Amino acid sequence: MNVDDVDSITVLGAGNMGHGIAEVAALAGYDVVLRDIEDEFVQQGYDKIEWSLNKLAEKDRLSQEDADAALARVSTAVDLGEAVADADVVIEAVPEKMAIKKEVYTELEEHAPDHAVFATNTSSLSITDLSEVTERPERFCGMHFFNPPVRMDLVEVISGAHTGDETLDLVEDLAESMGKTPVRVRKDSPGFIVNRILVPLMNEAAWIVHAGDATMAEVDSTTKYDMGLPMGSFELADYVGIDVGFHVLEYMHGVLGDAYEPCPLLSEKVEAGDLGQKTGQGFYDYEDGEGAEVPHDEGSEAVKNRLLGVMANEVAGLVENDVADPAAIDRAVKLGGRFPDGPAKMADSAGIPTLVDALDDLHDETGEARYEAVAYLRDLAQSGEGFYGDEGSSDGMPAFDAISVDVREGVGHITLDRPHRLNTISTDLIEELSTAIDLFADDDDVRAVLLTGAGERAFSAGADVTSIAASGPDALTGTELSRTGQQTFGKLEASDMPVVAAIDGFCLGGGMELTMCADLRIATKRSEFGQPEHNLGLVPGWGGTVRLQRIVGTGRAKEIIFTADRYDAETMADYGFVNELFESENFETEAFEYAKQFAQGPPVAQRLTKRAMHSAWEDSDAGLEVESQAFGLVFTTTDLMEGVAAFTSDRDPEFTGE
Ligand code: NAD
Repeated sequence: MNVDDVDSITVLGAGNMGHGIAEVAALAGYDVVLRDIEDEFVQQGYDKIEWSLNKLAEKDRLSQEDADAALARVSTAVDLGEAVADADVVIEAVPEKMAIKKEVYTELEEHAPDHAVFATNTSSLSITDLSEVTERPERFCGMHFFNPPVRMDLVEVISGAHTGDETLDLVEDLAESMGKTPVRVRKDSPGFIVNRILVPLMNEAAWIVHAGDATMAEVDSTTKYDMGLPMGSFELADYVGIDVGFHVLEYMHGVLGDAYEPCPLLSEKVEAGDLGQKTGQGFYDYEDGEGAEVPHDEGSEAVKNRLLGVMANEVAGLVENDVADPAAIDRAVKLGGRFPDGPAKMADSAGIPTLVDALDDLHDETGEARYEAVAYLRDLAQSGEGFYGDEGSSDGMPAFDAISVDVREGVGHITLDRPHRLNTISTDLIEELSTAIDLFADDDDVRAVLLTGAGERAFSAGADVTSIAASGPDALTGTELSRTGQQTFGKLEASDMPVVAAIDGFCLGGGMELTMCADLRIATKRSEFGQPEHNLGLVPGWGGTVRLQRIVGTGRAKEIIFTADRYDAETMADYGFVNELFESENFETEAFEYAKQFAQGPPVAQRLTKRAMHSAWEDSDAGLEVESQAFGLVFTTTDLMEGVAAFTSDRDPEFTGE
């Protein structure tokens, strides 16, 4: 069976995850049966789907018509036989108890069609053990969604010991058809990828405080502002639920040994029922106190190296055991944990030898198993290589992380590739962008540049404030940061080639300033624009004050910057900022075709036209002078001859740039 053969999906369990998974499947066009053990439970799940779909329609994320159609594809059942009669795939999201799940699979095997594939959404239980209850262990795997499934892009697709490749391929394709990013977990290993990294991080944060080596404020300040993670470690534990992390940790402790012994600080909180935000009280007080107030400036290098060391050790363990490679681990943790960078990349940046030294010192001091560096990490430290080695990727391009780059049919395509952070612009992204633009300038195969944003929600929602805050900017570094952005974006403006920004979704702040350096901007009708800096007491710092007024005029530019309002795509087209509006369907293909037409244009004339027009910014007379010189210069090119010849013989010209 391949994904095109899947019509009907049954979701078992209509709780937190089950109803969300059913909604995602229905949105992707599948017929969905949602099943729970009582009418009341299944109805509650159905009502939540209805509420969520209407919310998406209200926010213009989809039309009311599509929301109604998705809901119409969901039916409910209590009788298991009825629920799975037509199922091609069954996704199970019943409570995280081995006994309950085993019972469910035993019963399911009696009723499900022979061809149906079973996928469990378990967070920690053994996929292999569960599969052995059925008579189809080769058609059984893990399909681990993240909470809430509608918003979280990651799906870990986990192989049990008996799972067939065809099943893994099918479930990955299925996740993709639901608009998710699947990451394959090659082995049924406790915590899979994301929890295997995040849960020991939370545990180590607790051990640091428990040992009196740092305060909670120091640890959270380090995590949030020095490491640039979205939340402090304790803040994250409170957000997820201390009990949730604790139970996964207990399971890891049982299977993987002493290195995963839960810190007493965690068990005490669980025993006291102080589970975090959901109970009003966790490590922080959300009822009577201020919640998580993390200071900006209490971070410490020692805490940072300790947390990074523990994370790097987990990454190395996963790689060593062939559970996943560093790139898959980084992709998963960025999407599932909303990290600005993956843990392998962060460890490489910190330097593996430094982290191994930190682990060794702690091991000497405490003798604790969790500081024993795994052999693979030690090998890397000795060889002086990082998880990513010291080479670029195989296609001749350097290994990009925050962007992806592709050259095809004359179009150099840069995708801002941080969908987990709405493609916000980090300092790393700026650096990579600069490298990519330089590469394109030297590449004869590139004749036009296309800029897009990955994912469904944003071109770019602006500067990545957390990653930038992590570098602790002051006036001097702030100015430097502004210059670096201006200059890098300016390279596009100064590029000899036509540059097209294709905008779908949010295009805000720094993201919008990037598009100001494109020669042409096209956008989907659902896109939203704005310069929100004044809302934060900031000024647009990546060229917005200068470049926006050139495009829309001083009056409109001041309006956009001073109001800091959101503008819809139609208004921005009226203002002359957007050249052409598109529907969302097929936008990617249409944007590529749009850019391609310029890749087929006359390179010399394009270059000179840009120069002439841009010199008018300094001085209109000078602009006219450059224009007339350019006009003269193009008469010396063979492209002009070719253009005229093609025109008179009614064929497409073939420009060569000579
Ligand atoms: P939940 O308690 O919200 O929902 C479980 C539902 O299953 C309940 O409605 C319950 O009535 C129902 N149920 C019980 N026995 C059943 C049966 N025999 N057949 C059908 N339904 C039955 O739990 P949840 O948070 O949705 O978690 C479900 C699964 O997803 C667990 O395995 C959990 O580990 C996993 N998971 C949870 C999260 C999360 O953040 N909550 C994230 C990823 C994975």
